[in-house]
Amino acid sequence: GYRSRASYKLKQLDEDADLLSSGDTVVDLGAAPGGWLQVAAEAVGEAGTVVGVDLQRIDELADHDVETIRGDMTEERTRHYLREAVGEAGADVVVSDMAPNMTGEYSLDHARSVHLARQAFDVAEELLAPGGDFVVKVFQGEDLDAFRDEVAAEFQYVRTVSPPASRDSSSEVYLVAKGLTAAPVEEGD
Ligand code: SAM
Repeated sequence: GYRSRASYKLKQLDEDADLLSSGDTVVDLGAAPGGWLQVAAEAVGEAGTVVGVDLQRIDELADHDVETIRGDMTEERTRHYLREAVGEAGADVVVSDMAPNMTGEYSLDHARSVHLARQAFDVAEELLAPGGDFVVKVFQGEDLDAFRDEVAAEFQYVRTVSPPASRDSSSEVYLVAKGLTAAPVEEGD
């Protein structure tokens, strides 16, 4: 069975947007307790690579060869370890289910969620190979549209999805961005 109900959200997102393929390299940010890691590992198979990062310790996944990093994604040190784990070829898919500790204060929780989502976006831009896909959880609120526009500028398209598995909870949505566009060549090079 799956470690968390969250697993079904990634399954639904994958069915919907065709994200995970055999042989892919997948980076999972905010991966504890590991439900999305299980789904990703199944989808990429033995030829694929899955790397998960979380502040919390992630228990080893019995049937799957998954690398995990314990660290804070807002710290450069963690990004360094992640870069090393992914290697030169880069990632095919970056997913982030990171969420802040909830205070119950709507605008603060939203702001913190957008902050984490921006960190994930930075990492996605850095690690994804051209054509790669990015999925990120964000709580709805006033900064969502601006963030969505920033993501949309770097990918072929972005959709806002509310998976059935998360509809009963909260204000969370997922931005599903497909096809990272290659960075333009700098003038003067
Ligand atoms: N997708 C996971 C699964 O399927 O099991 C559930 C993820 S849970 C909703 C959100 C996670 O984000 C928490 O485990 C939390 O520790 C992590 N998180 C929050 N802020 C983080 C940060 N700055 N760096 C790394 N992980 C973070």
